[in-house]
Amino acid sequence: MLRRLLPIALLLLPLSAHAAAGGAASVDDARLVGAASEPQNWLTHGRDYAEQRFSPLDQVRPENIGRLMRVWSYETGLKRGHEATPIVVDGVMYATGSWSIVFALDAKTGEELWRFDPGVPKAVGAKACCDVVNRGVAVYEGKVFVGALDGRLIALDAKTGKPVWETVTVDQSKAYTITGAPRVVKGKVIIGNGGAEFGVRGYVSAYDANDGKLVWRTFTVPGNPADGFESPALEKAAKTWSGGEWWKIGGGGTAWDSMAFDPDLDTLYVGTGNGSPWSRVHRSPGGGDNLYLSSILALDPDTGDLKWHFQTTPGDNWDFTATQHMILADLEIEGKPRKVLMQAPKNGYFWVIDRETGEFLSAKPYVEVTWADGVDPKTGRPHETGTANYGNGIAMVKPTAFGGHNWQPMSFNPETGLVYIPAQEVLGAYRFNPKEVLTAEHFNTQTDLAPFATLVREIVSGHLLAWDPVKQEEAWRHPYAMPWNGGTLTTAGDLVFQGTADGRFIALNATDGHKLWEFHTGSGVIAAPISYAIDGVQYVSIIAGWGGAFALVGGDAAAQGGTPSKGIVHTFALSDQAITSAVVEELLASRDPALAKREDLYHRWCARCHGVTAVGGGAVADLRHSTPDMKKAFVEIVHKGMPGVGMPSFGEILTEQEIEEIQTYVLGRAD
Ligand code: CA
Repeated sequence: MLRRLLPIALLLLPLSAHAAAGGAASVDDARLVGAASEPQNWLTHGRDYAEQRFSPLDQVRPENIGRLMRVWSYETGLKRGHEATPIVVDGVMYATGSWSIVFALDAKTGEELWRFDPGVPKAVGAKACCDVVNRGVAVYEGKVFVGALDGRLIALDAKTGKPVWETVTVDQSKAYTITGAPRVVKGKVIIGNGGAEFGVRGYVSAYDANDGKLVWRTFTVPGNPADGFESPALEKAAKTWSGGEWWKIGGGGTAWDSMAFDPDLDTLYVGTGNGSPWSRVHRSPGGGDNLYLSSILALDPDTGDLKWHFQTTPGDNWDFTATQHMILADLEIEGKPRKVLMQAPKNGYFWVIDRETGEFLSAKPYVEVTWADGVDPKTGRPHETGTANYGNGIAMVKPTAFGGHNWQPMSFNPETGLVYIPAQEVLGAYRFNPKEVLTAEHFNTQTDLAPFATLVREIVSGHLLAWDPVKQEEAWRHPYAMPWNGGTLTTAGDLVFQGTADGRFIALNATDGHKLWEFHTGSGVIAAPISYAIDGVQYVSIIAGWGGAFALVGGDAAAQGGTPSKGIVHTFALSDQAITSAVVEELLASRDPALAKREDLYHRWCARCHGVTAVGGGAVADLRHSTPDMKKAFVEIVHKGMPGVGMPSFGEILTEQEIEEIQTYVLGRAD
């Protein structure tokens, strides 16, 4: 009986599971495939290949979250959007800030271990549609991989942060950028790129993790038919483009963010972006679905060959990308267990498809949708209303290019059965801009920003949406005044965490949406939180740093957010877990002996009126900021006292030298 209980008891103590404590060097295929069973780590972008962003840690719960406190913070020293999900491997955190800058931190203390600046030329910022952001790194066999904004893929030594290899993944004369996090699948680093607003042709590539050699490249849209096609899949796709010379203006379909991998099905899933230009009138004047824009592609991870595709917006006309986060899960649908893929792309529908075959299972609007009035129940093809076709007139469309949900990752909690979507309501006003000359390399959507800019302040809001993917209906929502809030994390502690555009980090009950806790982050949050554990303590971490597409295009509405733009990693734990007697002893032991003597003197004689650590506590005069005259007269005042204001004389108690020691302490506190 005991023997049977023992492994179960061990399973119930995931916090103490340090079986695989080998660090970045030991992150191999087996650990990545089993990432979900390492609760103490966050080994890949979405925590595991299924990208569920569900942490099995449950030390922090609704009952004790009042004791959740910040235990360390790290200022990145960078402005502009911070979109990274950190990776945590055996106590070390690897993350990125703006400008593709990578840093490694001690995940227990926040101490910087190394920092790497890839030196992206600042002029590259003008090629980025949506800020100079980066969504994080991948870690594999002792290396940290980052896609730099200028299109380089760089492998760093995980111990030192020194480059091991780098390769240019794009034609740098064109407006390609990389903002997405790489994934490592079967020894290959998978990376896409962005640029569909600037006339590029989308693709995804796989590089050998050892040496950076290109293994395969899969284009997402066809090139010039006169040049022949790279694959039968692209030959088939070309039949869905008609009448235009799309290859001269790229076509788009950039794979700039979402990926997932199913090791059992040996299938890599990649989401593709919008058409280039946005307007289909010139891109493909003869009509057609324009494959594989706005699609989910199922690829063979060894060759990049297409197994199947599912297009969420045929003939995209509105920047309705399908690059939004995809989650793999096993759900019971109509009494049958199904291996599904879920996505809430920009177009406003929540899709559930069979991830083995690409078969459509269900779709329902998760926000207000006006461009379509439903989907074909058999094929899942959306039925356009026609009201969203824009020419010289203005078409009012919901959702818009910001999406009902954008890149900010959603999460899935298998215990509540709910998906937590950073949803938003932004009304779009589209107008065709015939004056915009179609060229590669320049911003190039053929739509006019002016109608949007005139009303953006009035028509925006956001909410955290808890969505039941089986019933395809809302379970609950938590409203925000602004859109463009951060990604979500859900935990086995029945919690959902999310940062907000107005600069808060909040926790809600995952079952009913009741708000339980909040922390002011000092800048708007757009990134997604993570959770990990070290030495039996559960940590929750979030990177604040306002920016991204809405900050740039949202104008006045965005300026209402949690500015200033400032990158800070905030990490939290329960106070009784984080502040143990051992921690206090360690802190005391680390005090400089001379400082300790002065501090003890101050605490004995001064603290009861002037506050511990001389801060004043907001109630009494703050000694750190007393006037120069007072500072000059310090020894005399303490010696003689100032009876009129209640300051006693210490002439009989303290020597002149002791008073000087106290003054040295107080002046030191003002630094
Ligand atoms: Ca776009």
